[in-house]
Amino acid sequence: MSPASGESRASATAASGPISVDDHLAACLAAVAPRPPEQVDLLDAVGCVLAADVVAAAPLPPFDASAMDGYAVRRDDLSGAGEGSPVRLPVTGDLPAGAPAPLTLEPGTAIRIMTGGPVPAGADAVVPVEVTDAGGGTDADGGPGTGSVVITEQPRPGAHVRPAGDGVRAGDLLVGAGTRLAPRHVALLAAAGHARASVHPRPRVVVVSTGDELVEVGDPLAFGQVHDSNSLALVAAARAAGAQAERVRAVGDDPGPALLAVLREAAGRADLLVTTGGVSAGAYDVVKAVLSASGDARFVQVAMQPGKPQGLGAVTAPDGREVPVMTLPGNPVSAYVSFEVFVRPALRAMLGHASPSRVPVAATASQGWTSAPGKRQFVRALVTDQGDGEGLSVAPVGGHGSHLVADLAHANALVDVPADATAVSAGEVVRCLLLDDVDVVVADAAAGERLP
Ligand code: AMP
Ligand code: MG
Repeated sequence: MSPASGESRASATAASGPISVDDHLAACLAAVAPRPPEQVDLLDAVGCVLAADVVAAAPLPPFDASAMDGYAVRRDDLSGAGEGSPVRLPVTGDLPAGAPAPLTLEPGTAIRIMTGGPVPAGADAVVPVEVTDAGGGTDADGGPGTGSVVITEQPRPGAHVRPAGDGVRAGDLLVGAGTRLAPRHVALLAAAGHARASVHPRPRVVVVSTGDELVEVGDPLAFGQVHDSNSLALVAAARAAGAQAERVRAVGDDPGPALLAVLREAAGRADLLVTTGGVSAGAYDVVKAVLSASGDARFVQVAMQPGKPQGLGAVTAPDGREVPVMTLPGNPVSAYVSFEVFVRPALRAMLGHASPSRVPVAATASQGWTSAPGKRQFVRALVTDQGDGEGLSVAPVGGHGSHLVADLAHANALVDVPADATAVSAGEVVRCLLLDDVDVVVADAAAGERLP
């Protein structure tokens, strides 16, 4: 699917009234597609979404294997064996794990076997070394096949044998398409011999900040300047969402050709471009000015708080690809919330996830707050499990200001307040989007995907 259709370009005009979060999200999702599958090394596939079912070509274990260090035996040869009635069997061979060739157990004999060793034909059980004299009766030279073992127990049928196909039969589904590969899947796929996996590759994201006031982190600030924190935050967020992300040095507010040149050049190594700043109604809103004039993006007001000014379009890369661009506002909290609400779902769609959004959790507001009518509000908040069996509780962190990045840092969730609400009351159950891997037990996560 082409990331941005000609139609969406042609309609690159400013929308009149505010649009809903869901409408802008739908437009963002329509502008992206899962990246075509690639075969990658298993370890590089971790965190990516499997593009095709992986089916077992062979059973696991591949052969009847011993589960203990001991002796492979025929049960019938040990009838009546016990502490008071030990049975001595000649030991005719040795089967370590990785034994080079199969052996056959003759009636009335035992073969020494180690955990993972292939159970010999003719044996129907393994007796652990603990119920034997460990071959104390071996010959002086101690070599296998020449000694004997004293056994004091008759094993159950199949005791301590892991039958071939016990865990996986040939043809079983190992891991299904759409699964985000985790280390536990690697355990299975590697055991089944898969060195590589077909996954949707991580989308490549380039983040471009704009603003004459921005200074590279690490450099000193002169009057009126601030550090370009958004591009780092957004790269970190994109990586946390599973993308490969990089940033370029902030571009100034000159509406000349520089911004478009930077975006086109960045598009050459990107599947998605993300900009911050310069999209509101100010005199120097360079992203809006440049991309509106070129017809490369359309700019909208989204009925949300924070994050009202948003833009979406596409930039032509040097290789001719149309690379989607999502333009976020510059206030650090607005940029971060916009990422959560629009960019992260787009990245998840590109990664091949069936469900782009976070699974919300329910929490009880421990205090109330107001919300502007007509705007969906995303409130920085702290979700906590009080440990009293009463479920999760949530409290807003800090003030409303979109510049209050410290409050953002101290939050672990966004409360998603519906557009028609004018207030949240203490005691109300609200929808929370947990921002990080937090150790909160989610009772009904099985209904959707697991938390990130
Ligand atoms: P803008 O959206 O460009 O009007 O910027 C709104 C506010 O966000 C201004 O106070 C900017 O200084 C600030 N801002 C914009 N871009 C960044 C950035 N990359 N890092 C930190 N603050 C920024
Ligand atoms: Mg600006």
